[in-house]
Amino acid sequence: MAGKKAIKKATKKATRKATKKATRKASAKAGALSAIVRNILRAKGVGDAALARLEAAGLGRREDFRVVGDAGTLAELTGLDAGVARRVMAWALGSLAGAGGTVVVESPDMVTCVRCGARQPKDYKSGDLCVHCGKQAEPVFACYWCSASGPGRYCRACGASFVSPGELELAILLKRDGLPKDEIPKRLEALSPAEKEALWGRVHKR
Ligand SMILES: [Zn+2]
Ligand SMILES: [Zn+2]
Repeated sequence: MAGKKAIKKATKKATRKATKKATRKASAKAGALSAIVRNILRAKGVGDAALARLEAAGLGRREDFRVVGDAGTLAELTGLDAGVARRVMAWALGSLAGAGGTVVVESPDMVTCVRCGARQPKDYKSGDLCVHCGKQAEPVFACYWCSASGPGRYCRACGASFVSPGELELAILLKRDGLPKDEIPKRLEALSPAEKEALWGRVHKR
């Protein structure tokens, strides 16, 4: 009987020991900096000794720095230079600061009338008349490819994306040069001012 009890006790002890070990291992892991965090911190000017102190303080993931809260506390914790601590905290809190910002992102599809400036409703479709003044809300573009014209960003006749009216003639010239339809707006965007100048020279020569 006594032997059985002793075995039970020993097993219990062993289990407890294993659990303790596992817990210690897990907490060590939580304080270990991942390779990416380590590299970012190095780039911010954190040296190896300071990295070790960060780990010792229990900082592992970027989220942990949010617990620290500010550069002063981080400097106190780790003995980091104040400037470096500030850079680290700016990085750690960066996405938080962005979330609290007041930048209003307008839907890229939001259309305002070119004649009266009125915002068009959400269900506005390219070509609709302005809800406010009753005129064509969008500018009408001419197509460099098929010479149809219409509102919106794309030609309804051939699907080409419109280029700015000021560069229509350049686009037509590029078409004559044999450029494919989809390449023309991209090429126009990529041209340097000098290259554009040269193209205009050719347009005016004809
Ligand atoms: Zn209008
Ligand atoms: Zn077209």
